[in-house]
Amino acid sequence: MLSLTFSLALLMATVVANQPHDQEPKHCPRCAQWNEHVEPYRLADNTWYVGTKGLASVLIVDPKGLVLIDGGLPQSAVLILANVRKAGFDPSRIRWILNSHAHFDHAGGIAALARITGAQVAAGREGVIALTAAAYHPDDPQAGFGEEARFPSMQHVRAVDDGDVITVGNTIITAVASPGHAPGGMSWRWTSCRADVCQAIVYLDSLNPVSTDDYRFTDHPDVVKALRATIDRLAALPCDVAMAAHPDQLPDAPNASTTRCAAYADKGRETLRVRLQQEHDRPAQ
Ligand SMILES: [Zn+2]
Repeated sequence: MLSLTFSLALLMATVVANQPHDQEPKHCPRCAQWNEHVEPYRLADNTWYVGTKGLASVLIVDPKGLVLIDGGLPQSAVLILANVRKAGFDPSRIRWILNSHAHFDHAGGIAALARITGAQVAAGREGVIALTAAAYHPDDPQAGFGEEARFPSMQHVRAVDDGDVITVGNTIITAVASPGHAPGGMSWRWTSCRADVCQAIVYLDSLNPVSTDDYRFTDHPDVVKALRATIDRLAALPCDVAMAAHPDQLPDAPNASTTRCAAYADKGRETLRVRLQQEHDRPAQ
């Protein structure tokens, strides 16, 4: 028994030692659940879901190359690559990896994915600061989490602003500025056409006002203003197909005249209202 325990310990030590730094598992209360495997599935003619159960990652397919949005946790990278292959595509054809926002649960796997595939990375201008520094942006409501929130850093990230496009073949992916949850947050939109029928697809960045305990959104009116503008921007997008950075935060549209993007924005607006009310009811100590 002792020798079996010893052998297992040795095996685990070897596995950990052989794990490239940028794939070392991140540990957090929800990480294991977020990182559960799900089969890839088609969202639209040119778009596949290739993420894990709780963290979205989508693959956009053009005959000239592939584009991936978000990389989950560091330990999600291998699962995403497996899902890309299972969907029938060669990961070495990924030209771009785009990021929604520079937090460990959406950007954690990007360094490894970029290294393995050779893809270029693009993110919102403020997001690039966090991605290259391997630390949250100083203005991030979650910046106070410090070490706990670190993820592998990367270099040579292209900074994009609202309305900038990433083009592969005939596929044009447009950046939609979505700051508020994190500085430099980006949603991304593109179309999928078959014959004469086109669908507008949106990858929605997070809207929830999450922070360290000592941070008050009411002390940062500029952040609240940015988040409100993001909510309005996302609500107004053409939106036949939607995916959110956290898929379980995306509600169904309540009726035929409301898009899922608008339903998501409404939910974000209500969550922000509740948060500001709570801060109002519980003044700073
Ligand atoms: Zn986040």
